[in-house]
Amino acid sequence: MVTIRQKLVSATQVAKITNGKNNAKKYIVVHETDNTSVGADADAHARLQANGNSRDASWHWQVDDKEAVQSFEHYWECWGAGTYIGNNQGIQIEICVNSDGNFNQAVENAASLIAKIMKDENISIHNIVQHNYFSGKNCPRNIRAGKISWSNFLKMITNASTQPPENPPGDTLKYRILTGTYSTRKAAESVLDVMKKRFGWVAYIEQDGAKYRVKTGTFTGMHAAQNAEIKIKTTKLAQVTYIVSA
Ligand SMILES: [Zn+2]
Repeated sequence: MVTIRQKLVSATQVAKITNGKNNAKKYIVVHETDNTSVGADADAHARLQANGNSRDASWHWQVDDKEAVQSFEHYWECWGAGTYIGNNQGIQIEICVNSDGNFNQAVENAASLIAKIMKDENISIHNIVQHNYFSGKNCPRNIRAGKISWSNFLKMITNASTQPPENPPGDTLKYRILTGTYSTRKAAESVLDVMKKRFGWVAYIEQDGAKYRVKTGTFTGMHAAQNAEIKIKTTKLAQVTYIVSA
C-alpha cells in the first residue's frame, strides 16, 4: 500500500478552481503531469495547488514513486478532465513523471491508491478511465504510449484490490518463488535480468532436465512472497509460479 497524506487546498482557493461540491464520483480519471523537471514530484504538485499557483486546473490527488498526496476531498468537482461530465463526475489522479523519480513505481503506487479509492467510493474497475476518454487529450501520455500498457495498469489495480492481508505478527518463515520452465537459457536469463535490475531481487537460474527455471532469493513471510508472485505475474515474467519454503 502506498503511503498517503493530505495537504488540502484552502476553502477560499477551492471555490476559485472547482465547479462546486456535488461530484457524482462515478469515474476515476487517470492523468500524468507531463512535468519531467527534477523535483516535480507529488509534494511539489500538492504545494503548487495549495499555494494557488495551478491557475485554471485542479486535481484531487498527485502520486509519485514515494507517496500519494490528496489536495481536494472527493466531493469537489475539480477542473481536470477537460469536459463537464469528466470534471463533475470524476476523481482526478495525476501520476508524476519527474525525471528523478521511478515512473514504474509511481504507476504501481497510483494503482494501489486507485484500488483504495474504488473501495472507499464504491467505483467499479469499468469506470477507471483515461483523461483521453473525456477530452481526447493525449493523457496519460506514457501509459498511452505503452510504457506500461493500460491493460497492465488495470491488472495492477485489480491485483492491488485483492492483495492478501498483512503478515500475521510472527510470520517470519522464509519463502522463495520458483517460475515454471523456460525452454532456453536465454529466456530464463531475460527474466532473471528483470528480477535483478528492475525489482532489485536476488535470483538464480536452475536447470531442470533440458529446461530452465528462475528461483528467487528468500522473502520473509507468506504475504511478502505472495506480493512478489503478483509482481511476477503482473509483469508477465512467468505464467506459472510456485511459492516454496526456503
Ligand atoms: Zn490529464
